Amino acid sequence: MQLTETPAEKLFRDEIREFVAARLPPDIRDDVLAFKHLGRDHYVRWQLILAERGWGAPGWPTAYGGPGWTVMQRAIFDDECYRGGAPRQIPFGLSMIGPVLMKFGTPEQRAHYLPRIIRLQDWWCQGYSEPGAGSDLASLKTTARRDGDHYVINGQKTWTTLAQFADWMFCLVRTQSEGKPQEGISFVLIDMRSPGVRIRPIRTLDLGAEINEVFLDDVRIPVANLVGTENGGWTIAKFLLGHERTNIAGIGMCRRLSASLKDYARQQTKHGRPLIEDVRFRDRMVKLEIDLLSHEWSLMRLVSLEQAGRPIGAEASMLKIRGSEIQQDLGELLMETAGPYALPFVADALNTGFEGATAAGVRLNSLASLYLDLRKVSIYGGTNEVQKNIIAKSVLGL
Ligand SMILES: Cc1cc2nc3c(=O)[nH]c(=O)nc-3n(C[C@H](O)[C@H](O)[C@H](O)COP(=O)(O)OP(=O)(O)OC[C@H]3O[C@@H](n4cnc5c(N)ncnc54)[C@H](O)[C@@H]3O)c2cc1C
Repeated sequence: MQLTETPAEKLFRDEIREFVAARLPPDIRDDVLAFKHLGRDHYVRWQLILAERGWGAPGWPTAYGGPGWTVMQRAIFDDECYRGGAPRQIPFGLSMIGPVLMKFGTPEQRAHYLPRIIRLQDWWCQGYSEPGAGSDLASLKTTARRDGDHYVINGQKTWTTLAQFADWMFCLVRTQSEGKPQEGISFVLIDMRSPGVRIRPIRTLDLGAEINEVFLDDVRIPVANLVGTENGGWTIAKFLLGHERTNIAGIGMCRRLSASLKDYARQQTKHGRPLIEDVRFRDRMVKLEIDLLSHEWSLMRLVSLEQAGRPIGAEASMLKIRGSEIQQDLGELLMETAGPYALPFVADALNTGFEGATAAGVRLNSLASLYLDLRKVSIYGGTNEVQKNIIAKSVLGL
């Protein structure tokens, strides 16, 4: 088990750190580190900079335009991008539909879509969840009926992250209603500009509008947009959900929150002294720092096992649970650095380019919203309760 970086990995880390410091546009970095709501342009600009350097698809093999990095190099890359204040790379293309097309797509689908993902020419969104199908995904009801060379799709998807920016949606649809629910699902690609696609934003607790409902009314797609076989979508759906393993730990976000916490605690004061010198506050910070350190070591342990060829199983569920708990704890303490100023937050100040005033100042204004936004991390990617079920079943044999 390798728990420290080799000299070559240290050099690699330096290279990424220098690149991010030199090439990440300062306006993007400032908005990211102020926890603002980012626009499509923030993500696309940074993605193009990475793509030009050959790092647009860090997890992909060289055959498809990736750098062919080891698992450890990918972890270092993610870490340095987070540390330097870069926007996250949008996962829907790179970590979800990209690997799906590599494994299940036709040569035509791969040749068309994969290069466009690297340059974020196509923004993808994920059409899995429905109002009646979340944890129990196989109960989904959106239908696709074959009509000549087309499928006609009807139904509703929900919680669709950043659908408002999306050009394409990969989508689970029901192509057969008899038999086991899992056996009648197909995996299709929908052009979001097709007639019959309607998007309605869902306003979240933090007053953001990152997630949406997507209504599909008689949407026609060519049969060529089917991935894999008709009724064979469940295997693909599971492959996609299980594909991205290391990011699930949320280490990059934890580190960013931890760095911000220290920064805010140095600047905020209590009884005329920096908050960071308050013994009780420090105790809580130190406890979280220890939690984070042990979480990082767990990830390193698993990354090193994966690098040695052992696939990660239910440990990914453990990383998901722990990572989301730590992010939420850090977010809560971070909000407390603002004290009463966390309360009257102004939603508009979270948008980039805001030039007005807020009671707390723009800097503190985003902390309550961040706290509220972080409620989501124990829900998406499989809720923490469902992750606990997986551990109970496959590790404890219950
Ligand atoms: C911010 C955000 C972004 C999202 N983005 C997307 C997206 O882009 N695309 C997409 O398709 N989906 C997305 N989702 C949906 C997400 O995958 C679902 O919310 C998640 O799978 C849970 O489903 P649900 O919300 O229907 O809750 P339900 O499945 O109805 O669960 C409700 C509660 O019951 C618990 N529960 C359910 N089943 C069990 C069980 N067997 N044992 C114990 N407890 C159980 C859950 O843990 C939860 O607490 C997003 C969700 C959020 C919050």
